[in-house]
Amino acid sequence: MDEVKNENESDGFSGWRAGIHTSIAGSLEQAAEKAHLLGCNTFQIFSSSPRTWKAREPTAREIAALGDLRQRYHLFPLAVHANYLINMASPDKVLRKRSLEAFRGEVRRAAAIGAEYLIFHPGSSRNASAEEGMRHMAASLREAVRDERLGALSILLENTCGQGSTLGGSFSQLQDMLALLDGLPVGCCLDTAHCFQAGMDLSSPEGLESMVGSLEQTVGLDRVHVVHTNDSRTPLGSRHDRHEHIGQGGIGLDGFRRIVNHPALREKAFILETPLEAPGDDARNLEVIRSLRSRNGSSGAQQAFPERSVPARAWRGRAGTPGRKVNR
Ligand SMILES: [Zn+2]
Ligand SMILES: [Zn+2]
Repeated sequence: MDEVKNENESDGFSGWRAGIHTSIAGSLEQAAEKAHLLGCNTFQIFSSSPRTWKAREPTAREIAALGDLRQRYHLFPLAVHANYLINMASPDKVLRKRSLEAFRGEVRRAAAIGAEYLIFHPGSSRNASAEEGMRHMAASLREAVRDERLGALSILLENTCGQGSTLGGSFSQLQDMLALLDGLPVGCCLDTAHCFQAGMDLSSPEGLESMVGSLEQTVGLDRVHVVHTNDSRTPLGSRHDRHEHIGQGGIGLDGFRRIVNHPALREKAFILETPLEAPGDDARNLEVIRSLRSRNGSSGAQQAFPERSVPARAWRGRAGTPGRKVNR
Protein backbone atom coordinates (compact mmCIF):
# COMPACT_ATOMS: atom_id res chain seq x y z
CA MET A 1 0.00 0.00 0.00
CA ASP A 2 1.26 3.46 -0.86
CA GLU A 3 1.57 5.27 2.45
CA VAL A 4 2.64 8.63 1.12
CA LYS A 5 -0.60 10.46 0.68
CA ASN A 6 -1.22 13.69 -1.08
CA GLU A 7 -2.86 16.01 1.44
CA ASN A 8 -5.88 16.40 -0.82
CA GLU A 9 -6.43 12.67 -0.79
CA SER A 10 -6.21 12.37 2.96
CA ASP A 11 -8.66 13.55 5.56
CA GLY A 12 -7.42 17.13 5.27
CA PHE A 13 -4.31 16.66 7.38
CA SER A 14 -1.31 14.43 7.40
CA GLY A 15 1.05 13.12 9.99
CA TRP A 16 0.75 12.02 13.55
CA ARG A 17 -2.18 13.54 15.40
CA ALA A 18 -2.32 12.54 19.04
CA GLY A 19 -4.11 14.06 21.99
CA ILE A 20 -6.27 13.45 25.02
CA HIS A 21 -9.60 14.37 26.52
CA THR A 22 -8.99 17.52 28.53
CA SER A 23 -11.07 19.05 31.30
CA ILE A 24 -12.81 22.38 30.70
CA ALA A 25 -12.92 23.04 34.45
CA GLY A 26 -11.98 26.71 34.53
CA SER A 27 -12.51 27.62 30.91
CA LEU A 28 -12.31 26.42 27.32
CA GLU A 29 -8.97 28.13 26.83
CA GLN A 30 -7.50 26.39 29.86
CA ALA A 31 -8.36 23.09 28.17
CA ALA A 32 -6.39 24.19 25.09
CA GLU A 33 -3.46 25.33 27.25
CA LYS A 34 -3.48 22.00 29.05
CA ALA A 35 -3.55 20.06 25.77
CA HIS A 36 -0.62 22.09 24.48
CA LEU A 37 1.38 21.60 27.69
CA LEU A 38 0.83 17.87 27.35
CA GLY A 39 2.31 17.99 23.84
CA CYS A 40 -0.99 17.30 22.04
CA ASN A 41 -1.79 18.48 18.52
CA THR A 42 -5.45 17.43 18.78
CA PHE A 43 -7.78 17.16 21.78
CA GLN A 44 -11.28 16.47 23.00
CA ILE A 45 -13.48 18.31 25.48
CA PHE A 46 -17.01 18.36 26.81
CA SER A 47 -18.60 21.67 25.89
CA SER A 48 -20.57 21.65 29.16
CA SER A 49 -21.02 19.28 32.10
CA PRO A 50 -21.53 15.77 30.64
CA ARG A 51 -23.85 14.56 33.39
CA THR A 52 -26.39 17.35 33.80
CA TRP A 53 -29.10 18.45 31.38
CA LYS A 54 -28.58 22.12 31.95
CA ALA A 55 -25.73 23.41 29.81
CA ARG A 56 -23.50 26.40 30.32
CA GLU A 57 -23.10 28.42 27.13
CA PRO A 58 -19.58 29.49 26.19
CA THR A 59 -19.09 33.24 26.00
CA ALA A 60 -17.92 35.05 22.86
CA ARG A 61 -14.69 35.97 24.63
CA GLU A 62 -14.01 32.34 25.55
CA ILE A 63 -14.70 31.19 21.99
CA ALA A 64 -12.33 33.77 20.52
CA ALA A 65 -9.60 32.88 23.01
CA LEU A 66 -9.97 29.18 22.26
CA GLY A 67 -9.69 29.85 18.52
CA ASP A 68 -6.55 31.93 19.01
CA LEU A 69 -4.87 29.27 21.14
CA ARG A 70 -5.72 26.50 18.68
CA GLN A 71 -4.11 28.49 15.87
CA ARG A 72 -1.07 29.33 17.95
CA TYR A 73 -0.53 25.76 19.13
CA HIS A 74 -1.78 24.01 15.96
CA LEU A 75 -4.43 22.05 17.84
CA PHE A 76 -6.40 20.39 15.05
CA PRO A 77 -8.86 18.76 15.02
CA LEU A 78 -10.90 19.61 18.12
CA ALA A 79 -13.49 17.00 19.08
CA VAL A 80 -16.39 17.67 21.44
CA HIS A 81 -17.87 14.67 23.24
CA ALA A 82 -21.62 14.91 23.80
CA ASN A 83 -23.38 14.63 27.14
CA TYR A 84 -23.79 11.07 28.48
CA LEU A 85 -27.46 11.54 29.40
CA ILE A 86 -28.53 11.93 25.79
CA ASN A 87 -30.41 8.94 24.37
CA MET A 88 -32.02 9.82 21.06
CA ALA A 89 -32.82 6.12 20.52
CA SER A 90 -35.04 5.84 23.59
CA PRO A 91 -38.56 4.43 23.16
CA ASP A 92 -39.63 6.92 25.85
CA LYS A 93 -41.03 9.97 24.08
CA VAL A 94 -40.25 12.38 26.89
CA LEU A 95 -36.62 11.30 27.24
CA ARG A 96 -36.22 11.30 23.47
CA LYS A 97 -37.49 14.85 23.18
CA ARG A 98 -35.26 15.98 26.01
CA SER A 99 -32.32 14.23 24.34
CA LEU A 100 -33.07 15.85 21.01
CA GLU A 101 -33.10 19.32 22.57
CA ALA A 102 -29.88 18.62 24.48
CA PHE A 103 -28.25 17.33 21.30
CA ARG A 104 -29.31 20.46 19.44
CA GLY A 105 -27.50 22.41 22.16
CA GLU A 106 -24.42 20.20 21.69
CA VAL A 107 -24.46 20.88 17.94
CA ARG A 108 -24.83 24.63 18.46
CA ARG A 109 -22.04 24.85 21.01
CA ALA A 110 -19.67 22.60 19.02
CA ALA A 111 -20.27 24.65 15.87
CA ALA A 112 -19.96 27.94 17.77
CA ILE A 113 -16.58 27.04 19.26
CA GLY A 114 -15.33 25.89 15.86
CA ALA A 115 -14.94 22.19 16.65
CA GLU A 116 -14.41 19.82 13.74
CA TYR A 117 -16.19 16.88 15.37
CA LEU A 118 -19.08 16.22 17.72
CA ILE A 119 -18.85 12.64 18.99
CA PHE A 120 -21.85 10.91 20.53
CA HIS A 121 -23.09 7.46 21.53
CA PRO A 122 -26.00 6.28 19.37
CA GLY A 123 -28.00 5.42 22.50
CA SER A 124 -30.02 2.51 23.81
CA SER A 125 -33.26 1.08 22.43
CA ARG A 126 -34.18 -0.25 25.93
CA ASN A 127 -37.13 -2.63 25.60
CA ALA A 128 -37.75 -1.85 21.92
CA SER A 129 -35.97 -3.46 18.96
CA ALA A 130 -32.59 -2.21 17.77
CA GLU A 131 -34.19 -1.27 14.44
CA GLU A 132 -36.75 0.92 16.18
CA GLY A 133 -34.02 2.49 18.32
CA MET A 134 -31.93 3.28 15.26
CA ARG A 135 -34.91 4.86 13.53
CA HIS A 136 -35.64 7.01 16.59
CA MET A 137 -31.99 8.06 16.83
CA ALA A 138 -31.81 9.02 13.17
CA ALA A 139 -35.10 10.93 13.19
CA SER A 140 -34.11 12.77 16.38
CA LEU A 141 -30.68 13.69 15.04
CA ARG A 142 -32.17 14.97 11.77
CA GLU A 143 -34.59 17.10 13.74
CA ALA A 144 -31.82 18.36 16.03
CA VAL A 145 -29.64 19.64 13.17
CA ARG A 146 -32.49 20.99 11.06
CA ASP A 147 -31.85 24.68 10.31
CA GLU A 148 -28.60 24.61 12.29
CA ARG A 149 -25.44 26.12 10.83
CA LEU A 150 -22.90 23.33 11.13
CA GLY A 151 -19.94 25.14 9.62
CA ALA A 152 -16.95 22.77 9.60
CA LEU A 153 -18.61 20.42 12.06
CA SER A 154 -19.09 16.72 11.37
CA ILE A 155 -21.08 14.50 13.72
CA LEU A 156 -19.44 11.18 14.61
CA LEU A 157 -21.21 8.09 15.92
CA GLU A 158 -19.01 6.21 18.35
CA ASN A 159 -18.91 2.43 18.45
CA THR A 160 -19.87 1.05 21.86
CA CYS A 161 -19.15 -2.11 23.86
CA GLY A 162 -22.66 -3.31 22.99
CA GLN A 163 -23.88 -3.74 26.54
CA GLY A 164 -27.56 -4.74 26.80
CA SER A 165 -29.71 -2.82 24.33
CA THR A 166 -26.97 -0.26 23.61
CA LEU A 167 -26.68 0.51 19.91
CA GLY A 168 -23.39 0.66 18.04
CA GLY A 169 -21.79 -2.52 19.40
CA SER A 170 -21.21 -3.79 15.86
CA PHE A 171 -19.92 -2.10 12.72
CA SER A 172 -22.94 -3.31 10.76
CA GLN A 173 -25.19 -1.35 13.12
CA LEU A 174 -23.02 1.74 12.65
CA GLN A 175 -23.31 1.22 8.90
CA ASP A 176 -27.11 0.98 9.19
CA MET A 177 -27.24 4.18 11.22
CA LEU A 178 -24.99 6.06 8.78
CA ALA A 179 -27.36 4.96 6.01
CA LEU A 180 -30.32 6.33 7.96
CA LEU A 181 -28.44 9.64 8.27
CA ASP A 182 -27.53 9.82 4.60
CA GLY A 183 -27.02 13.37 3.35
CA LEU A 184 -25.82 14.73 6.70
CA PRO A 185 -22.15 15.37 7.57
CA VAL A 186 -21.79 12.23 9.68
CA GLY A 187 -18.99 9.73 10.21
CA CYS A 188 -17.62 7.49 12.93
CA CYS A 189 -15.32 7.52 15.92
CA LEU A 190 -13.66 4.19 16.68
CA ASP A 191 -13.04 3.43 20.36
CA THR A 192 -10.43 0.68 20.76
CA ALA A 193 -11.57 -0.33 24.26
CA HIS A 194 -15.16 -0.62 23.09
CA CYS A 195 -14.03 -2.78 20.13
CA PHE A 196 -12.20 -5.10 22.53
CA GLN A 197 -15.12 -5.26 24.94
CA ALA A 198 -17.45 -6.01 22.02
CA GLY A 199 -15.34 -9.06 21.15
CA MET A 200 -12.73 -7.79 18.66
CA ASP A 201 -9.32 -8.97 19.84
CA LEU A 202 -7.12 -5.96 19.13
CA SER A 203 -4.31 -7.51 21.19
CA SER A 204 -3.42 -9.86 18.32
CA PRO A 205 -2.26 -9.05 14.76
CA GLU A 206 -5.02 -11.26 13.34
CA GLY A 207 -7.66 -9.60 15.50
CA LEU A 208 -6.59 -6.12 14.35
CA GLU A 209 -6.61 -7.18 10.68
CA SER A 210 -10.04 -8.70 11.13
CA MET A 211 -11.35 -5.50 12.77
CA VAL A 212 -9.90 -3.28 10.02
CA GLY A 213 -11.29 -5.62 7.35
CA SER A 214 -14.81 -5.55 8.74
CA LEU A 215 -14.63 -1.80 9.26
CA GLU A 216 -13.66 -1.43 5.61
CA GLN A 217 -16.56 -3.61 4.47
CA THR A 218 -19.18 -1.83 6.58
CA VAL A 219 -18.64 1.77 7.66
CA GLY A 220 -15.72 2.39 5.29
CA LEU A 221 -12.30 3.52 6.51
CA ASP A 222 -12.67 7.02 5.10
CA ARG A 223 -15.65 7.66 7.37
CA VAL A 224 -13.63 7.04 10.52
CA HIS A 225 -12.06 10.32 11.63
CA VAL A 226 -11.11 9.80 15.26
CA VAL A 227 -9.72 6.79 17.11
CA HIS A 228 -10.46 6.88 20.84
CA THR A 229 -7.26 5.23 21.97
CA ASN A 230 -8.05 3.42 25.21
CA ASP A 231 -6.96 0.13 26.70
CA SER A 232 -9.61 -2.04 28.36
CA ARG A 233 -9.83 -2.90 32.06
CA THR A 234 -12.38 -5.63 31.31
CA PRO A 235 -11.72 -8.82 29.29
CA LEU A 236 -12.30 -9.49 25.61
CA GLY A 237 -16.02 -9.59 24.83
CA SER A 238 -17.02 -8.44 28.35
CA ARG A 239 -19.57 -5.95 26.98
CA HIS A 240 -18.61 -3.88 29.99
CA ASP A 241 -17.04 -0.45 29.44
CA ARG A 242 -14.03 0.31 31.64
CA HIS A 243 -11.06 2.19 30.19
CA GLU A 244 -7.49 1.33 31.20
CA HIS A 245 -4.08 3.01 30.89
CA ILE A 246 -2.37 2.34 27.57
CA GLY A 247 -0.57 -1.00 27.68
CA GLN A 248 -1.98 -2.07 31.05
CA GLY A 249 -5.21 -3.63 29.82
CA GLY A 250 -6.37 -6.38 27.50
CA ILE A 251 -5.09 -4.73 24.30
CA GLY A 252 -1.55 -4.24 25.61
CA LEU A 253 1.50 -2.39 24.32
CA ASP A 254 2.03 -4.58 21.27
CA GLY A 255 -1.62 -4.20 20.36
CA PHE A 256 -1.37 -0.40 20.47
CA ARG A 257 1.93 -0.39 18.59
CA ARG A 258 0.18 -2.15 15.72
CA ILE A 259 -2.92 0.10 15.98
CA VAL A 260 -1.15 3.47 15.82
CA ASN A 261 1.09 2.33 12.96
CA HIS A 262 -1.53 0.51 10.90
CA PRO A 263 -1.68 1.94 7.35
CA ALA A 264 -5.47 2.08 7.53
CA LEU A 265 -5.49 3.99 10.82
CA ARG A 266 -2.25 5.94 11.14
CA GLU A 267 -3.65 9.11 9.53
CA LYS A 268 -6.60 9.32 11.95
CA ALA A 269 -6.65 11.56 15.01
CA PHE A 270 -5.74 9.42 18.05
CA ILE A 271 -7.43 10.81 21.15
CA LEU A 272 -6.97 9.16 24.55
CA GLU A 273 -9.71 8.85 27.15
CA THR A 274 -7.58 6.97 29.63
CA PRO A 275 -8.24 7.11 33.40
CA LEU A 276 -6.95 10.07 35.37
CA GLU A 277 -6.48 8.39 38.74
CA ALA A 278 -3.18 9.89 39.84
CA PRO A 279 -1.47 13.17 38.95
CA GLY A 280 0.47 12.76 35.71
CA ASP A 281 -1.58 9.85 34.36
CA ASP A 282 -2.47 11.91 31.27
CA ALA A 283 1.17 12.79 30.50
CA ARG A 284 2.28 9.21 31.09
CA ASN A 285 -0.35 7.71 28.78
CA LEU A 286 0.53 10.20 26.06
CA GLU A 287 4.20 9.42 26.46
CA VAL A 288 3.50 5.71 26.08
CA ILE A 289 1.39 6.12 22.94
CA ARG A 290 4.01 8.44 21.37
CA SER A 291 6.75 5.93 22.09
CA LEU A 292 4.85 3.32 20.09
CA ARG A 293 4.57 5.36 16.93
CA SER A 294 7.23 4.71 14.31
CA ARG A 295 8.31 7.11 11.61
CA ASN A 296 7.95 4.70 8.72
CA GLY A 297 4.80 2.94 9.79
CA SER A 298 6.44 -0.40 10.47
CA SER A 299 5.09 -1.79 13.69
CA GLY A 300 8.44 -2.71 15.22
CA ALA A 301 10.25 0.61 15.51
CA GLN A 302 10.07 2.70 18.66
CA GLN A 303 10.92 6.12 17.35
CA ALA A 304 8.42 8.83 18.16
CA PHE A 305 7.98 11.96 16.09
CA PRO A 306 5.61 14.54 17.46
CA GLU A 307 4.51 16.75 14.62
CA ARG A 308 2.72 20.02 15.22
CA SER A 309 3.19 21.88 12.01
CA VAL A 310 -0.12 21.27 10.24
CA PRO A 311 -1.75 24.63 9.57
CA ALA A 312 -5.35 25.15 10.53
CA ARG A 313 -6.09 26.06 6.95
CA ALA A 314 -5.68 22.42 5.95
CA TRP A 315 -8.73 21.67 8.03
CA ARG A 316 -10.86 24.46 6.70
CA GLY A 317 -10.56 23.08 3.20
CA ARG A 318 -11.70 19.61 4.12
CA ALA A 319 -14.02 18.37 1.43
CA GLY A 320 -16.04 15.34 0.58
CA THR A 321 -18.68 15.48 3.27
CA PRO A 322 -22.09 15.80 1.69
CA GLY A 323 -24.89 18.02 2.90
CA ARG A 324 -22.71 20.48 4.76
CA LYS A 325 -24.00 23.97 5.37
CA VAL A 326 -21.33 26.54 4.91
CA ASN A 327 -21.38 29.67 6.99
CA ARG A 328 -18.01 31.15 6.22
ZN1 LIG B 1 -17.67 8.09 24.08
ZN1 LIG C 1 -14.66 6.67 23.58
